[in-house]
Parts: sequence; structure tokens; C-alpha cells
Amino acid sequence: MQQSNREKGIKPAFSRLMLMVIAFMVVSLLSIPCEAASRRSKSSNSEPILRVKMGGNHTAFKVTFPDGGWMQNKHGRKTRTFRKGETLNWSLPGKRGRRVEYKGESIYLFGNKDVVQLNKSLYRGHLQADITDKGARIINHVGIENYLRGVVGSEIGSLSPSESLRAQTVIARTYAYASRNKHGSEGADVCDSTHCQVYKGVSAERATIDPAVQATRGIIMISDGEPIATLYHASCGGMTSDNDKVFGGAPRSYLRRVICPFCRDGSNFRWTRSISADALIKALRGEKTVFSRLYDAEIESPQPMDRVTNLILHTNTGTHKVRGTTIRRLFNLPSTTFILGNRGIAREIIAAASPVTITETPESTQRHRIMIAALADDIADGPAQLMILTGSGLKRTLRPEGGWQTIGLYPAGDAAPGSEELIPPAKVAASSGNRASSLEQLEIFGRGYGHQVGLCQAGAIELGKRNWSYRQILAFYYSNVALRSLDY
Ligand SMILES: [Zn+2]
Ligand SMILES: [Zn+2]
Repeated sequence: MQQSNREKGIKPAFSRLMLMVIAFMVVSLLSIPCEAASRRSKSSNSEPILRVKMGGNHTAFKVTFPDGGWMQNKHGRKTRTFRKGETLNWSLPGKRGRRVEYKGESIYLFGNKDVVQLNKSLYRGHLQADITDKGARIINHVGIENYLRGVVGSEIGSLSPSESLRAQTVIARTYAYASRNKHGSEGADVCDSTHCQVYKGVSAERATIDPAVQATRGIIMISDGEPIATLYHASCGGMTSDNDKVFGGAPRSYLRRVICPFCRDGSNFRWTRSISADALIKALRGEKTVFSRLYDAEIESPQPMDRVTNLILHTNTGTHKVRGTTIRRLFNLPSTTFILGNRGIAREIIAAASPVTITETPESTQRHRIMIAALADDIADGPAQLMILTGSGLKRTLRPEGGWQTIGLYPAGDAAPGSEELIPPAKVAASSGNRASSLEQLEIFGRGYGHQVGLCQAGAIELGKRNWSYRQILAFYYSNVALRSLDY
């Protein structure tokens, strides 16, 4: 049976008992059926052609024909031929009133070996230029598989393991297939920039990526019969997010939260930033939030080390709420998933890889609205216990059965999510009215890079190194999807 084979393939990747919970989850997820597998071999249809809008409006362009080529009009009639290496130079005339060459026409430029050069870059397929007296719109008509060869290397490093590259290729193909006619009003399917997918043609092709494109030829991911929205990000920092929690809108069954400890060796698994009160005051003035003294700051988030919905600032002009996404944008933070540690304690807790005792006494015991939370760096090897000094004394928590997820100290009255293994909430002295001191600095401790929905690229690279197949990698991050092979 196909499915049990796949399950066998997964288990060696989980040698540690402590990962059993995840392993169980994975096994129940990793059942991507391939709908049209039996039809693939005999198919003879040609692959879909994608119309890629190249840049914006061109006031000038050069097309070179490395192997010679020709121009034809919209009726398919050949109107000009080009010798090997010959270049067509087009530009708007410098002076008004001068005749615009090919004005009102669409010209089609073909290379004898299906390659043409637009300005300095080579592209497969042929080019279309729609010319008006304002400039030219250029569209590259290219087979979807050749298009992918020029895309995948820009989306993930070409030195990644082959199965990770295959997973990224299926994502890019699914995106392209689902995006047909996305730029329909401009006569195109997709554009060549980050708005769609960065496409650089032949110059982006790599010897390591071509096999990934070939091995997954025609394969896309579907859910309920439709190509899925293939969201992905650089690093989730331990846990991905539900799509609706991040972007609003309807929850999608395949974009659910997944625990991912696999990105821990990548960059931005954990990060820290310091923002001075002055910088905050200055930046927020531009957002029409005006104050000159910051007393205290706290965050609003669904749970500790989760996305920050709002940063709450207690200031001399009252309490202000600033959206987490605004703070991310203003200070170029890797993600909106962070906590605050204003006493220099959280830094040590988060850095702890073994039991730690903190003996430092905070200079003030007046205001200790401390929210300390650590997502364990490794579910198997996380610290056995943590000692946390708060304004109300030393607290100790032991590693809960099954390993750390989050640990937290919560102000009295707040319900602590999670198990009873968590330490009891610290008693927090009433801080309202205590405005004796100002906060000079926000210490921010965060995890992950990007929106954290869908596939975690750093995790996918690690899973590729652990010999997971691209199907297993995709099934791990996208729940309940099927692979479909387009019939060509
Ligand atoms: Zn676009
Ligand atoms: Zn991850």
C-alpha cells in the first residue's frame, strides 16, 4: 500500500522520542495522494504558455537575436527577419510630433532557437511588444516549465537540498497556474517582480534547479479541486500561523498552524532588537501618535511568543495602541512575533540552553509587569528547568512532560494558557499611578522572519537535509492538500 510506504519513509527522520507528538501529527498528515499519476506517462499535450509582463512601461528597449530570428504581426505574418546577433532598437522619439515606430501595433519577436535577449537578459519563448505613443509594454510568452527554471532560484537558494527545491518548485508552479490572467487587464498572466514571482529568465537558471523542475513536471497542489494559495515565508521561528489570524478573511483548511522545530539552525529563528524610547517617540509621531515620555509598554498577543496584535504604550499623553504590523514596518523587524523584556531578564531566559539561575536583582521592584516566555529551542533538548527572578520573588518551573512549548509568567488575574505545569502567576503590584520612572528602551525578543503562514523555507531546507521527500515536506506545512499532475 502506497500510504504505509510513505509512513515508513518518515519515521527514521524522527529518532528522538520527544518528537513523537510531532511525528504523530506528521504521519497523520503525510498522505498526499497524487490524482493523475497514472495519466502522466502517456500525456502528449503541450505545457501551458504563461504571459509574463516584463517590467513596466518601456520608453526604449533592445531585442537581440543570438541565433537569428524574425518579427511577425498579430496575424502571424512574418514582417522581418534578423541575422544572428542582430539587434532591434526601439525608443520613443525624443521630439514630440515625430513618428513613433510601430505605433498602435503589437509586434512579436521570435528567436530561431526559442531564445531572445531583452536588453541585457536572455529569455526563453518569444516576446510581444504592444506599442503606443506613450511607450511599449513587453510580454514574454514562455512555457510554464521554462518559466519555473527562471523563478525557483530566486525564491530559494539553488544550493538547497534537492527535495527542498522540488517542494519550492511545486509551490511556484501552483502559484503560476493559479495566477493565470492575474494581470489580465494588461494582457498578461503574471509580472516578473515580487508582486507575483521574481522571474529573471535564463540568467536565473541553475544546474541544481532544472532537475527539480523536471522531476515535478506538471505537479501542482490542490484543495477542494482548486490550486491552493501557496503562502510561504523565510522562517517561522518554531510555529507557523493560521492564515486568518494573520491576514484576516476566511480560514483556509490547508493553512493551519504547524509546530516546526526544523528552522532552528537557520537565520532569524530567534532575534533581538533594542528600540530607544526616543526612536519610538520620533517614529510614532509620523503615525500621529504623539507623546514625549514613555512610562511602560506591554504587548497584546493571543499567547506568549505569538504574533503581536498591538503594542500598548503608557505615556504622558495617555495609553496608545499601536499595531504590531506598524511596529514591524517602522523598525524593520523580521516578524511581528515577539515579546518585551525590559529588565534584561528575558534575554537570559531565552538564551538559556541549560538550567539557569538569575541572581540579579532588578533595581526597582515597583513595576514588574514581566511577561517572560520562551519557546524552547528544541523540544527534545530544552532546559530541564528555569529559574526566573521576578519582582515578587524567585520562581521555578520544571520542564513539562512532553517538553517545552511556551512558558510564561502572567500578571495576576490573566489566565495562563497551557498546562498546570506552568508556574503560578506572579503577583503584580498595581502599576497604575506609578509613573515615577520612564522606560528608556524597549528590548524586543522575537522569532521567525516573514508572515509565518504556510511553508517555512528554513524548515523545508532542514527537512530536505533529513531526506524527507518533497511530498512529505509539502504535506507537513500544508494540511489536507492533494497533488495533481496537469496533463501535459
Ligand atoms: Zn504581478
Ligand atoms: Zn519553521
